[in-house]
Amino acid sequence: SAYSQEIREAIRTVPNWPEPGVMFRDIMPLLQRRDIFRKLIDSFVHRYQNMQLDAVAAIDARGFILGAPLAYELGLSLVPVRKKGKLPFDTVTQEYDLEYGSASIELHTDAFAAGDRVLVMDDLIATGGTMLAACELVRQLQAEVVEVSAIIDLPDLGGSDKLRAAGFDVYAVCE
Ligand code: 5GP
Repeated sequence: SAYSQEIREAIRTVPNWPEPGVMFRDIMPLLQRRDIFRKLIDSFVHRYQNMQLDAVAAIDARGFILGAPLAYELGLSLVPVRKKGKLPFDTVTQEYDLEYGSASIELHTDAFAAGDRVLVMDDLIATGGTMLAACELVRQLQAEVVEVSAIIDLPDLGGSDKLRAAGFDVYAVCE
């Protein structure tokens, strides 16, 4: 669509960052374009306004930028999924492989009520490892992942296929 084309054109590709051979998709120019940033959040609002969600689980750190305005506008809880060591209370932890390296993410054990309907949000899906780890944490806390959502999916890396194979609905604005 014209909309996803506009989003796509506002994303900058930075070659060889953070290491040689990686083409990093940089969403900062998109956020700077106030008209496009607004349209992006509005389109997520439109998609999720009738899904009876309870919470947005937003992944550290660029997922926060999308998840916070969405949760605010829809009147939902905002649950930051944080990198290991950042949350002060009791946590559950999930380790996962990254496109480059490995890492762990965490949630507070009281982040959700049992049965909460949760949207998991990040800026980009590459191998899907981050999203899958976040989904596993949400499930571990007896909440339901309604969908995982991102601005960008890199389909060649297989992440969205892997997430779908694991039983999750996946949405991305563009590939
Ligand atoms: P995955 O776990 O799917 O391999 O990697 C996705 C995670 O790494 C997301 O949290 C995302 O923010 C980050 N990431 C990996 N590659 C890129 C990229 O090219 N651009 C951006 N903006 N984030 C990336």
